[in-house]
Amino acid sequence: MTSDKPTIGFIGLGIMGAPMARNLLAAGYELTVLDLVQAPVDALVAEGAMAGTSPAQVAAATDVLITMLPDSPQVEDVYLGPDGAYESLRPGWLSIDMSSIAPGTARTLAERASAAGADALDAPVSGGDKGAIAGTLSIMVGGEPAAFERARPMLEVMGQTIVHCGPAGAGQVVKVCNQVVVGVVIEAVSEALVLGAKAGVDPARIADVLQGGLAATKVLEMRRDNFLSGSFDPGFRIRLHLKDLKNALELARETGVALPAAATVEQLMRAAAANGRADLDHSGLVTVLEDLADSKVCDAG
Ligand code: NAD
Repeated sequence: MTSDKPTIGFIGLGIMGAPMARNLLAAGYELTVLDLVQAPVDALVAEGAMAGTSPAQVAAATDVLITMLPDSPQVEDVYLGPDGAYESLRPGWLSIDMSSIAPGTARTLAERASAAGADALDAPVSGGDKGAIAGTLSIMVGGEPAAFERARPMLEVMGQTIVHCGPAGAGQVVKVCNQVVVGVVIEAVSEALVLGAKAGVDPARIADVLQGGLAATKVLEMRRDNFLSGSFDPGFRIRLHLKDLKNALELARETGVALPAAATVEQLMRAAAANGRADLDHSGLVTVLEDLADSKVCDAG
């Protein structure tokens, strides 16, 4: 291991975290890893990582802690809970939370870190599991500029587009903005395909035409096969998108902003989840519109 590189603790080795940790190992960083599930820990240990025993131990043993957890409650648990990482807070230590969580939680973590002479960045990502594996994520960062510069070499291993968005919480604000756009576009594409298909036009032709004009979207480019075949293996689960929209609507309430379209999409995703579809890819939102229309896009092809 090269000694000029900081040692890294990595907690949360799921769909995203495991390949991100793997890329850091491959780049020569010394890594200590932890997850509630043993299998991804064992896999990374076999590749040269060390296994941690608790967030406090991982934080004490490393210069930088990176976390990739589902949502705010898990992040609060890992940082602030018993045996949490902040029991090992010390001057000069740095944490980078890359989970998508509420901006207010990110600000709380940064304030606590700062009071102890440490730094905490929020650095959520977009780009999905493919981007995590390829090391091409887009990373949006909130926090102190000097801490951002310290984190940059590590972030460059995991991502391609790395933007410092502003002070603590700003990365999470941009992430919820991103998720509002993606959710509303999925809903719009779903409405268009359900309407056109029930009106008797081949949905593949509809998709071809939409992608050639102003209606073209990355959502239809990336999820075309899902929409047209009616199969929705994740990908990005409805459960996680629902969480991101919850964070968006909470931020909207705090800031006095109306989000009528995002609120509707949140309701439709909640209906999907209530009907046993929380673990479908988020393009599976189309199934709720199909139910309302009593007509399936894939049957019209
Ligand atoms: P995941 O559920 O696959 O992984 C989360 C991991 O955290 C799991 O391995 C779980 O065991 C672990 N974990 C949970 N609580 C823990 C705790 N207290 N201590 C230690 N480990 C714990 O989720 P994911 O898809 O990897 O997503 C992680 C974050 O990244 C989420 O906030 C998600 O919204 C965001 N994100 C996901 C994608 C995607 O395409 N999957 C894309 C962009 C952003």
